[in-house]
Order: sequence, then structure tokens, then C-alpha cells
Amino acid sequence: MDQSLVSVILTSYNKPEWVGKAIESVLKQTYPYWELWGMMDDHSSQNVQDIINKYTDDKRIHVVNSLVKDEERPLTTRYATLINQAILLANGAYITYLTDDTMYMPDRLAKMVDFLERQKVHVIYSSQLVRQVDQKKAIFSESILEAKDVLEDAAFIVDHCSVMHTRDVLIAVKEKYGSCWDDDPACWNHGDAAFWKRLNAFAPFYPLLEILDVTYKTPMSFQNLYRNLSSPLIDGSIVSGSSGERFIIDRSRRRLLAPKWFTFYKYNRSDIIQVPDPVLFQYSEAEPIDGELHLPNYRLLFCEENQTLYYLDGGRKRKKLLDSAAFNRYKFSRKEIVTLASQALAPLGNGPDITSFNGAVPGPLPNRRVFFAGFKYWISLNDKICEIEREVLERYHLKKDIIPLSLHAVQGMPKGERVQGVTKQ
Ligand code: UDP
Ligand code: MG
Repeated sequence: MDQSLVSVILTSYNKPEWVGKAIESVLKQTYPYWELWGMMDDHSSQNVQDIINKYTDDKRIHVVNSLVKDEERPLTTRYATLINQAILLANGAYITYLTDDTMYMPDRLAKMVDFLERQKVHVIYSSQLVRQVDQKKAIFSESILEAKDVLEDAAFIVDHCSVMHTRDVLIAVKEKYGSCWDDDPACWNHGDAAFWKRLNAFAPFYPLLEILDVTYKTPMSFQNLYRNLSSPLIDGSIVSGSSGERFIIDRSRRRLLAPKWFTFYKYNRSDIIQVPDPVLFQYSEAEPIDGELHLPNYRLLFCEENQTLYYLDGGRKRKKLLDSAAFNRYKFSRKEIVTLASQALAPLGNGPDITSFNGAVPGPLPNRRVFFAGFKYWISLNDKICEIEREVLERYHLKKDIIPLSLHAVQGMPKGERVQGVTKQ
């Protein structure tokens, strides 16, 4: 057997249920000449660090904790930054990649090294088994990303856990581009594709037909989290990152929504949208929601003292809802009404009344309501009406309580930008 050293670069961030399996899959390799340099952890929670630290007795495993601060996370494509750091430390003649939710087949390194040495090529890739799993790790779909062609342009076709390349080609990339992986934050959901373009400037990707790695796409995988998410996030959405804390998006900032206030303001679990941490951390933190001082928008608030029902909208209280047809017209629900003392509502300014309409152009719409007109979906945001993709509506769990509207009415309203998913892979 050949004795070329392979450097495996594993990036890890908050996947306690998977990262151990990824490391074990390296330990089980039939090819012994490897180093895990590095086991790059992106400042995961303590439980993940504890799992990783169990493996440090093995001299081939080198752990690096990035100690990155949350506010620094959106500044670069993190796994590309980590991979670049690992490359500086790696000693292997060959470099190969792994993520914390992927497992190598036991003969992956042996087969890839053998192929590289016999064919004398610089970049190879193998087939990948992709398993979609639910919250409980139950597999609900499976597909194969097949390696069959020699690729002159591998971007968006090959996952980085299926690739091995020579150190020599990396040196050429660094000389030409000044860095190895491009960690510009614009590359967040296609970091490997951006690097493949660089590699392809020097070498095609040669296929190894066999499946040599299995990757698990969890509900928390970036590909799933970025899917059909809009930028910016829809105002008033309740979002949660990997820490599980909930925040409410409030005009380009995020406010912590503690469990107590989540219940008090009658939100449902189905209102929570999982988002990638780099998206969450783009929003600076403002004062947490509380009962009296910092109220969440888009709630129905009832003031007992003056028997008035308000819709809190853009920091303004809007009335004329309770006894009017508008309540039903805009599909508000009585179950959502929260009773508040008048002193909590007193400091808030008044917005325009919410009035009903019958076919004619209505007055200013309540914001964050969803409409259907002219065979398209629309959402009212910032006092404008915006067309919105059906998939985005579903992603935000907003495809319910759809209000029918005439196209004529839409034509008479100020229009905002179309709400669509961020660039898909
Ligand atoms: N990752 C990271 N820092 C972060 C977020 C993610 O290093 O802040 C790493 C993560 O550990 C994984 C890789 O980026 O190795 C890709 O993430 P994920 O597996 O969630 O994405 P997907 O499978 O959807 O491409
Ligand atoms: Mg992954």
C-alpha cells in the first residue's frame, strides 16, 4: 500500500448527534496514513466540544476551536475560513474534506489514494448518498449524487465531502487567487462551488463511480435552512437559530422572545421559523420583548379600560377592528387577542384605522396579512403590497388565512419589492 499522507479537514458546528459519527468514520478507514488536521470546530456549544475532545488521545487527530464570536459569524463563509486555516496546518500530499453530518465509507481513503496515484490526476470525486432526515433522525428520502463524468465545471454538481485533491493543485490556486477557498460571505450557500471554479482553472474533476460517503441533511442543514428564505426576513417573524432561543424580527433588528412572552402573546410553535445562524446574526439585538415596554408588532391587543381592540403595526396602534367587518375581512382570529392594561398601550402612537372594503380600493392595509389576487400571492409589508412566492409563504408558515382581493384593488396600491427566496444552489 502507498504511504502518501492524507489530510482530512472536518468542519464542525453544533451537530452533537452527528459529529462523533463523522469522526468515527475517519477512525474506521482501512487506509492508515491520514491525519485529521484539522478537526475544525467553529466554537460549538459545550456538549459538542465534549464529544470532540474524547478523540484527542489519538495522535492523528488535531482539534482547533475557532472561538469565533457570534457577531463575527456573518462576516465570512465560516467553513471556508476554517478550511483555509486547516490547509495552513495540514501536512498531507492529498487534501480531503468532511462535514460534521457526513460519514465516509471505510475504504474511501484507500480507493481515492489508489485512483489518484494510478491515474496521476489532481482532483477526483466519488458518488454520494444523500439522506434527508427529520428531527428524530428518521430517513424520509434518499438520493444519489452520481459521479460519472469528467467535469470541467464542477460548481453546483459536487459536494465537498466527495472530493480529494493534491496539495500541488492547491498551491497553484493560492498563487493565482491569493487564497485557497473564497470565504466571502456571499458564498455561504455555495462555498464549495466557488472553490471548484478555482480548482477547475487548473484541473478537471475525475469520477470514481462508487458511493464513498453518506451525507445527512437534517432540518438544521444549511441547504434546508436557506431554502425559500427571503432576504430581508419578513418583519414580525419569530426566528430561531441553532441555540434554540427565539427572536422576533422587528424592523431590521431582533428582539429576544422569552418563553413567558411567547405564551403571553399567544404565539404557536408553528410560528417559529428555523434560520441559519449567519442570517440571524445579521440582525443586531434590540431590547427583549416584554409585557409592557417592548411589545411585539402584528398582535391583536385589547384594552379593557376603553374596550378597544388594536392591531399593533409598525409600532403604531390601529383601531376600528372589533365591531367592524374588517375583523373578518382581514381574517383576524379571536383566539389571538391579548388583553393589556392601558398604560402599556398609552405610549404608542396611533396609526390609521383599519377599515373594511367591498371590492373598491381599501384604506391602508394592515401589515403582515396575506392576499390572493390575479392568481398570485401578496403580502402587506411596510404599508405596501408585495408579490410573494408561494414557496416563501410556505417556508414562513404564512400560507393560511389568505384574503381574497381583486386585481383592481392591488393595482391601486403602492407596491413593494417582490418577496422571493435567496439564491438557490
Ligand atoms: N459550519 C461552520 N460554522 C457555522 C456554520 C456551519 O463551520 O457557523 C460548517 C458545518 O459544521 C458544516 C458546514 O459548515 O461542516 C456546512 O454546514 P451544513 O452541514 O449545515 O450545511 P449543508 O449540509 O446544508 O450544506
Ligand atoms: Mg451538511
